[in-house]
Amino acid sequence: MIIKNVRILGGEPVSIRIADGVIAEVAPGMDAPEAIDGGGAIALPGLVDLHTHLREPGREDAETVQTGTQSAARGGYTAVHAMANTSPVADTAGVVEQVWRLGREHGLCDVHPVGAVTVGLEGRQLAELGAMADSAARVRVFSDDGKCVDDAVLMRRALEYVKAFDGVVAQHAQEPRLTSGAQMNEGVVSGRLGLTGWPAVAEEAIIARDCLLAAHVGSRLHVCHVSTAGSVEIIRWAKSKGWNVTAEVTPHHLLLTDDLVEESPVGAYNPIYKVNPPLRTRADVEALRAALADGTIDIVATDHAPHPVEDKETEWSAAAMGMVGLETALSVVQEAMVETGLLDWAGVAQRMSALPARIGRLPGQGRPLEAGEPANIMLYDPSARTKVDPSAFASKSRNTPYEGMTLPGRVVATFLRGRPTVLEGKLV
Ligand SMILES: [Zn+2]
Repeated sequence: MIIKNVRILGGEPVSIRIADGVIAEVAPGMDAPEAIDGGGAIALPGLVDLHTHLREPGREDAETVQTGTQSAARGGYTAVHAMANTSPVADTAGVVEQVWRLGREHGLCDVHPVGAVTVGLEGRQLAELGAMADSAARVRVFSDDGKCVDDAVLMRRALEYVKAFDGVVAQHAQEPRLTSGAQMNEGVVSGRLGLTGWPAVAEEAIIARDCLLAAHVGSRLHVCHVSTAGSVEIIRWAKSKGWNVTAEVTPHHLLLTDDLVEESPVGAYNPIYKVNPPLRTRADVEALRAALADGTIDIVATDHAPHPVEDKETEWSAAAMGMVGLETALSVVQEAMVETGLLDWAGVAQRMSALPARIGRLPGQGRPLEAGEPANIMLYDPSARTKVDPSAFASKSRNTPYEGMTLPGRVVATFLRGRPTVLEGKLV
C-alpha cells in the first residue's frame, strides 16, 4: 500500500509505502494505481493520549471502548490510556485485563488501561499494582485520576512500588480540604459570581509535595492536567534538579479561561465549562503555553471526559465536571500553539505522540515515520477551517466547549499499523 503526496512533519511531499503494518519505504514520487492520495496533508505519527476516560465498564451510557476509540481515531490517535475511574474501578488484574481485551476486540486504536493507585480510588490502601503490571494488560501508568492520592505515606509507597516495573504514578493534584465544595477557579470571577473558589494553591501544594517525594525515593512522577502558572514554576524547579518528573496540559487549559463561566456565547453559568481542574485565568493560559513550548510541560493529554446530556445540562452546582476532547485536540493545539508560532509540527508530534508514548512505555507508538517503524500514521490538513458540530462526533457524548466555534485543521486519515481507521475524515 502506498500513501502518496504527504508532508512528514510539514516537510517536502513524499510517498510512504507500507507492507505488513510497517513502513517499508519513504521516498518522493512513489505511486500505484490504488495509492491513497494524501492531497498534500501533513503526516504525523499517530497521536497517543495518556489521559482518556472511556467509561467502560459501568457508564456505557456516556462512552464505550468502541465509541471512545472511534472518537480517538477520528482525532488522529492510534493509542489511548484508559483511566481507572470506571465501575468497577480498574484496581485489579481482572478489570484491567477486561478493558485491555475490550480494546483488542472493539478498539479502533490501542487501549492501554491505567491502573488505580488505591483500592476503589478510596485513598486508603494500595491496589494490586504488581498484579496489574504483570497482567496481560501490562499496566505501566497508575492513577486515581478524578481523585488525588492525598495521603503522603500512600503516595510515597506507590512511587516506591512502581519502580520495580518501571511504572509511573500519574497524580491528579488536588488538595481535597482546600477544594471542598469548589465550583470554579478561585479568583475575581468566582468572587463576582458567588461560586465557591478552587484555589491554585490546592494544585500547587500537591505537585510540590509529590516532586519532593519522587526525588526522595528516586521514582517517576507524572503530573496530570497542570492548570496554573504556579504549578509550571514548581515543575520547572523540579526538572532543574534533574528529578524524574513529567507533566501534561489539556487542550482546553491552553485555550479557555474562567471568565467564560460569567460570559460566553452559550450564556452565563453554562456547565459546559465546568471541568476539573477548573479553567483558570489568561495569565495561567499564557504560562501553560510557554511551558509546553519550552518543554517544562512535556505533553498534551486530552482528559477526554464524556458525560451524558442529563449530567451536564443541569444547574451549575449539580453538573458533572469534564469535557470531551479527542476529536478536537489537535485543532485546539494548532490554534493555541502553532498559529501563535510557539510550536512547529515536529514539536506537536513530540508532545502529542513521541513523549506520551515514552512516558506510558509503549514501544510501538510515537515512533518517527521512517522505514522499519510501525505504520501508525495520521494525516492532517491544517489549512481547513471547521465549525465544531458535536452531533458529528463519534463519541457517545457531546459535552464540548467548542460547539459552534470555528477551529483550524481537519484530521484526514488515521492508520493503525497500516490499517486505515479513518479515511477522508470518516471512520472506516
Ligand atoms: Zn483528573
